[in-house]
Amino acid sequence: MTEKADLQSVLDRAAGGGRITPEEALVLYRDAPLHALGAAADAVRRRKYAGIEHIATYIIERNINYTNVCVTACKFCAFYAAPKDTAKGWTRDLDDILRRCAETVELGGTQIMFQGGHHPDYGVEYYEKHFKAIKDAYPQLVIHSLGASEVEHMARISGVSVEEAITRIHEAGLDSFAGAGAELLPERPRKAIAPLKESGERWLEIMEAAHKLGVESTSTMLMGTGETNAERIEHLRMIRDVQDRTGGFRAFIPYTYQPENNHLKGRTQATLFEYLRMIAIARLFLDNVQHIQGSWLTTGKEVGQLSLHYGADDLGSIMLEENVVSSAGAKHRSNRLEIIDLIRKAGRVPAQRATTYEHLLVHDDPANDPVDDRVVSHISSTAIEGGTAHPELKLLTSN
Ligand code: SF4
Repeated sequence: MTEKADLQSVLDRAAGGGRITPEEALVLYRDAPLHALGAAADAVRRRKYAGIEHIATYIIERNINYTNVCVTACKFCAFYAAPKDTAKGWTRDLDDILRRCAETVELGGTQIMFQGGHHPDYGVEYYEKHFKAIKDAYPQLVIHSLGASEVEHMARISGVSVEEAITRIHEAGLDSFAGAGAELLPERPRKAIAPLKESGERWLEIMEAAHKLGVESTSTMLMGTGETNAERIEHLRMIRDVQDRTGGFRAFIPYTYQPENNHLKGRTQATLFEYLRMIAIARLFLDNVQHIQGSWLTTGKEVGQLSLHYGADDLGSIMLEENVVSSAGAKHRSNRLEIIDLIRKAGRVPAQRATTYEHLLVHDDPANDPVDDRVVSHISSTAIEGGTAHPELKLLTSN
């Protein structure tokens, strides 16, 4: 049999729902024709969503950055300030955070992504206090936030086990983990970009502990900081192995490295084709993960649209506020009507979803599209009534 026939037979098996090995995934990722790879991934998506395969989802959320002070100093990060850098560092007080939650509710947002640095003083108690206050005031908001890195950090600060930290913040109001801090799980690329973060194995151990304690999560991958194709596939393998045991990863979300304002020099960003290939191979290889999310924030709207034909079923969020990847150069912005239009023009029926992916509002008739054009991504705090801008937010709005 020729190499080409081998490749086609693996592609056919994957498209038919058969499990593929990491070695086979690497061959497909590297060598399969782009359209054939996308078609196989789309076939899997259609079968997984039989009956609702015509729908693609989005969510309205707000990232609330509580501090940029961080002891972990990841080299790819343009957001953090070292604790000694008092000119750049800031923290947000609880009233400010609650006001942002109120605005989120007012604009129809359903989810909060509480996101920030590893502040040297923030242990479990800090997160308990804030999650409880958010839930007391806005029980309708889902707190889908943090990840294994924050758990490792807060448990260390408070001198408790990660299991205790997870249990306590869950009881205080955290609904699910956002899978932050996964970056690249294999050792070599992780050490190269985030040498002070916990290992990839430890990241997975903590997520596994969370899943076993009843806290589900999403999973992510940062592409394009110099990792090899084999390391990308190894990242997927590590996630699939845990998922086989727990089933706790709701989604996989790859996104591309943004090169501005950080300490990584000379990195070649992942190309858009590499990104689309990753969406497709993730759909084929991660046969045990239900949702694959396409991203328009770092790759642009057209690529976001294309991702829906390469295995993605969801287009992520209209972020009412985002400052982390934006600090590193992600400049794409959108609003609700644009996302709806974009999904429609990709040949799908748009639906606003909940954190747990139930459809909240199916936009099956353009005549009934929502008219509130304040639901715009990337608006800074100053763009919403009563906001207090931090310096980096002013910078963001002037982009
Ligand atoms: S990515 Fe997160 S942990 Fe790393 S430096 Fe930035 S804020 Fe800190």
